[in-house]
Amino acid sequence: MSRTPLLAGNWKMNMDHLQAIKLVQELGLDLEDHKFNYADADVVVLPPFTDLRSVQTVVESDKMKIAYGAQDISVHDNGAYTGEVSASMLVKLGCTYVVVGHSERREYHCESDAVVNEKTKVTLAAGMTPIVCCGEGLEIRQAGTHVDHVLKQINGAFDGISAEDALKCVVAYEPIWAIGTGEVATPDDAQEVCGAIREKLAELYGQEVADKMRVLYGGSVKSSNVKEILSRPDIDGALVGGASLKADEFSRIVRQDG
Ligand code: PEP
Repeated sequence: MSRTPLLAGNWKMNMDHLQAIKLVQELGLDLEDHKFNYADADVVVLPPFTDLRSVQTVVESDKMKIAYGAQDISVHDNGAYTGEVSASMLVKLGCTYVVVGHSERREYHCESDAVVNEKTKVTLAAGMTPIVCCGEGLEIRQAGTHVDHVLKQINGAFDGISAEDALKCVVAYEPIWAIGTGEVATPDDAQEVCGAIREKLAELYGQEVADKMRVLYGGSVKSSNVKEILSRPDIDGALVGGASLKADEFSRIVRQDG
């Protein structure tokens, strides 16, 4: 089963709009210099909300084949929700991806599986691709219940979502203990959980659908480890934090050039 790899850079709360313009331009140029074939992988950047208009302008004016999206989305359409950004606002800015349920949103903004489910549905309804994040903390990993924990998150995130819509989603397995710590799950650790996620998706939607869905790994991915991680059968790409903030390093990750 061939699935096009997806490499997505989650900039988190880094880069003002001027830095964003520079980073996207440098990334595009670096990929061009290395004759990167965009048919080989989907490349996505996920800047802060305040950068989206600038990124849109650069991507459109330079006709870049880099897609972009947001790190979060409101469950509401519009109205008195101070600080929130709606799906239609993101669509208007040309966003095609939205990160949903990142562990930092779950932890610092108390996002439950039910909220993640709502955000996944809102993203799909607007025609964008949700990158649905899941992953366990260190204590759960040490207790050996990480697979059960992650599958429960998957059950929650996909509750009430049809097979047709599930096909439009991407899942990102991100063990919290490996995010921003330099501590990478071994490729076999990552495969264990990504494989279990695909089995769960097959149970929910059938093998054919599960085989078409992309499951990413995230957690201290860099150019030196990306190739081995992506060599595992159920890992279809990476959600990259820190290492996506440098154009040459993210370009290496996209090109799997360690
Ligand atoms: C992330 O936050 O999605 C992430 C994977 O971060 P890092 O690559 O820095 O561990």
